[in-house]
Order: sequence, then C-alpha cells, then structure tokens
Amino acid sequence: MQKVTILGATGSIGVSTLSVLSLHADQYEVFAITGHSRIAELANQCREFNPRYAVVSDQSKAHELAQQLSSASLRTDVLWGEKALAQVASHAEVDVVMAAIVGAAGLEPTLAAVNSAKKVLLANKEVLVMAGELFMQAVRESGATLLPIDSEHNAIFQCLPDSYSSSHRGGVEKILLSASGGPFRDTPLSALRQVTPDQACAHPNWDMGRKISVDSATMMNKGLELIEACWLFDVEPEDIDVIIHPQSVIHSMVSYTDGSVLAQLGNPDMRTPIAHALAWPERIQSGVSPLDIVAVGTLDFQTPDLERFPCLALAIKVACAGGFFPAVLNAANEVAVAAFLAERIGFTQIADVVSEVVSRCENEPVCHDEPMTLDRIKFADHHAREIASRCVDKLASSDK
Ligand code: NAD
Ligand code: MG
Repeated sequence: MQKVTILGATGSIGVSTLSVLSLHADQYEVFAITGHSRIAELANQCREFNPRYAVVSDQSKAHELAQQLSSASLRTDVLWGEKALAQVASHAEVDVVMAAIVGAAGLEPTLAAVNSAKKVLLANKEVLVMAGELFMQAVRESGATLLPIDSEHNAIFQCLPDSYSSSHRGGVEKILLSASGGPFRDTPLSALRQVTPDQACAHPNWDMGRKISVDSATMMNKGLELIEACWLFDVEPEDIDVIIHPQSVIHSMVSYTDGSVLAQLGNPDMRTPIAHALAWPERIQSGVSPLDIVAVGTLDFQTPDLERFPCLALAIKVACAGGFFPAVLNAANEVAVAAFLAERIGFTQIADVVSEVVSRCENEPVCHDEPMTLDRIKFADHHAREIASRCVDKLASSDK
C-alpha cells in the first residue's frame, strides 16, 4: 500500500488525482490532503477518503474544517500553516507526494518532499521556474524520484530513452513542446485588450484552474513550461521548439538524430499523466477513454506568433538569461494574472507588467550572479511582487 499526500487537493489537478486514486483503493491510501480556501470541498474529500491529515492555510479555516467534520467519525487531524504543509509532504509514512499547489506557495512544501526523498509528482511548474537549480540539486542529493505531471513534460518523459541522462543523450536532438495556442489563437489582435477573465479561462481543450488558464491564454504557460523542460531534461532553451497544435492530442514530441520523431498521444485529460506517474514504471487505469484518432481526423501544427504572445517571448528571453530572472518573471506574472482576474488590469496589460518588472530588475543586484539560495530566491520573488504591484496600481488608476 502506497501512502499519498496531495498538496492542493481541492484544485483541478488535486481532484483529478483523487479520481485516479479512487480507482485503485487497493494500492494507494490517501494520507494527507491540503487546501487553501474551498473548505466545504476539502471536508467532502475528507469524508470520502478519510485521510490521516487535512491541512489548511490558517487557523480560522482549520476551525471551520474541524467543525464541518465534527459529526463524521474520521481519523483526520486538521492542521494549518506552512509548517504543516511541509510536515505532511515529508512525513516518514508518506511514499508519494503530488505537488499541485498553484504558484510560489508550493515551493517550500514541494522542496520538503524532495528533501525527504519522496516520489514527487510535480504539477506545480512554478517551483522549477523559480528555483530550478536549487530544486534539481536537492533531487540529486536526496535521491528523490521526480516525475513530471505537466502533460507535455510527461509526454517528453515517455518519449525519451530509458537510459537518458545529461551525460547520455541517447541520440536526442530536439524537444518539440506542444502548445494549444489557448482560446485567443485566432482572435483579432485589436480585440485582445477587451477580453474578460471568463473568456480567458474558457480553454478550448483543457479544464484547469484559473491561473494556469490565463497563462495558457497569454502563452506564458508555454514559456514557464520551456523553463520547466530545461530543468527536468537538462537542456538549453535552443534545444526546445514550441509548436502550436490546436487539437491537443499530441502532448509533445522528441526528435532523434536518425530522423525519428517519437510522440505521445491521448485525449487531453490530466488523469493520464497522473496515472502514468503514480504507477511508473508500471501502468494503471486512469479512467480516461481511449483516443479515437479517426474521430480526431486532422492534426494541425503552426509556429507561435510572438507578437500575439509577448509573454512567450519574455519567458524565452528570461530562460536564456537564467539566474534569478525566471523567479522575477514568475512573481510578476502571478501578480499580473491575479490583477487581471480581479478585473483591475486588462488582458494585454499582463505582458506590460511582466515586461516592466523584468526590465527594472535588469539593473538590480537582486538578479545577478549570487549563489542561488532559498532566501535569495524568496527575496527576488518578494522584490518582483512589490514592483509588479506598483505597476498594477498605476495601470489600474490610469484606466479610471
Ligand atoms: P487550481 O487553482 O485548480 O488549484 C490550486 C490548488 O492550490 C488548490 O488546492 C488551492 O487550494 C491550492 N492553493 C492555492 N493557493 C494556495 C496557497 N497560498 N497556499 C496553499 N495552497 C494553495 O490549480 P490547478 O489547475 O490544479 O493547478 C495546480 C498546479 O498544477 C499549477 O502549478 C499548474 O500550473 C499545474 N498544472 C495544472 C494543470 C491542469 O490541467 N490543471 C496542468 C498542468 C500543470
Ligand atoms: Mg502543460
């Protein structure tokens, strides 16, 4: 019996993970689940899976959850706060940790899981964008098993040779990173300024949380994924081509020196990469229906238009710059996306905020040549958030 902690159980990935686990109750036990704001959902998950621990962000929510659970006879202890997140991620009884908190909030609990040599299923790409060097070093030193959940990275992992490593590339030439192009792939450029959060979150192929949905609409998500792929597979930005493939059936490809190109295909449903990583190197059922390739009929491919998607261009630039720049980009983007979702700034202003923050940091010591430590990364993140918040305030007040 494998014991599983799910960081971010109430989110889209968390719910899909519980759905896969519920098909295999004989093999996996839900040890701990965590949530931030949806306490009623977390209470329902506790009633269904009876975890040993449930963790929320603050004391008042812990009180609320404990009250909701008081009439059920469960074994669940309710904990709260950052320390508790790290505690359930690193608990001696835990075998597998699903890292599915969104954004920088997931960094420390995910690192705690890595440092305790867990099998870590990584959905939270922001962690690698912020702290890739530190994170991958921790994976090597602890002996943790890191498996990608992001559908593209999971696909690449499946298409790489078993023996692939930084010293043995096995004939790999290029990674072809799939992108759907999001809901605004063909929207006239002049109309982008006016799009609403609900339009941005209406992804044509994937049902996801609101932050990643907006990132998909700006294609910042693909930029974050390019940085994620550089760390996971130890390659440079120029080893990766982003390819728009609107059907989201080929989840990514790997091109080899002999002219072979291997692809992983499937319906766009995150339960497939989740089941793959959970059972790896075995295979288990995910609940996803088989791909009907004949019904799909046509597969299209295009190169992305960087004028339409300035966030992708910014992320590629930052990927090449390295250092603390990806952490700065990520922090600025989190602030800008939250401001867009709160209808304080327009859709195209997300790129304006991120661009401004990145260029302001170019001349600041915070982004240069210091050894990477967690404290410095947190400082760069905090600093970039402050600049981004001021940019947002300026834009929001000048629009009134
Ligand atoms: P979501 O918004 O649906 O869920 C986020 C989860 O994180 C929730 O459980 C929420 O309670 C928790 N959370 C949010 N803020 C928190 C905080 N400050 N402290 C502690 N917990 C907090 O997001 P999602 O779509 O499930 O995405 C989760 C992660 O997986 C993201 O990093 C995303 O980029 C990545 N991802 C998602 C998908 C997808 O299909 N949804 C695909 C690939 C990668
Ligand atoms: Mg993805």
